[in-house]
Amino acid sequence: MIRKYLMALTLLGMTSLPGWAQDPERAITQITGDVYRFQNQFHYSIFVITGDGVVMTDPINAEAADWLVGEIATMTDQPVTHLVYSHSHGDHASGGAFIDAPEVIAHANAPETIDGVAPTRRFEDELIFAEGSKMFELTYLGPGHGQDLVAMVVRPENVAFVVDAVSARRLFYRDFPGSNVDDWIDQVRRVTELDFDILAGGHGPLGDKGDAIAGLEYLETLRARVLEGLSAGKTVEELKSEITMAEYSDWQAYDTWRELNVEGMARHLQEIGAVK
Ligand SMILES: [Zn+2]
Repeated sequence: MIRKYLMALTLLGMTSLPGWAQDPERAITQITGDVYRFQNQFHYSIFVITGDGVVMTDPINAEAADWLVGEIATMTDQPVTHLVYSHSHGDHASGGAFIDAPEVIAHANAPETIDGVAPTRRFEDELIFAEGSKMFELTYLGPGHGQDLVAMVVRPENVAFVVDAVSARRLFYRDFPGSNVDDWIDQVRRVTELDFDILAGGHGPLGDKGDAIAGLEYLETLRARVLEGLSAGKTVEELKSEITMAEYSDWQAYDTWRELNVEGMARHLQEIGAVK
């Protein structure tokens, strides 16, 4: 029964599936062991069939969550026991009302309700819980992208679910809207300090620890180049054409977000007074 929901199981095979990018897509794929990835267009979450119940993460939106709950019911009789929010941004966290979970976990900074759903359990720095044969390690990533962003590592599979802070082989979101980019860099550094093998992002392909490290290197390189250019008196327009970040040209969103990444970094460095 589960078979028909499993597509390519290899880590790198996902982007090569025919039609992957064209259709308004929903899919469930096995990442490894009992950890599954749910795709709704360009957004992803994960869920885990623990033996005693199902631990779910971001519902993404109402229609997606409704579909996902129906699909999981065909895969297992185990009840949903937990809903874990990566953070409260609406494009990942909407639709939680369609997931009937007795335990709803979010960071302490999350709003009182997330699209109408009130978390039953909040934490500040770290929360570890067991369910069935699995361990779940939740870590607050600090401020940066949002104020309530949480990473979740599932053991024994050693899969890290990390949303928006860093994605495998994908540029950062537009111009880092509304964010202190140095705080964002600290979030990515905290991800690289977690103990995991597989990076299951809220966007982009599956990756590994090396991809998180590469994301951190991208940000640090971008910061250094933009700061150097601004300090040399160059305009942001000049930097947008000069700082090509060419070594990352095969990453997702390179063509659409590179200039925005430069612009956002420049804005941040000017705002914090880093340019002398
Ligand atoms: Zn977000």
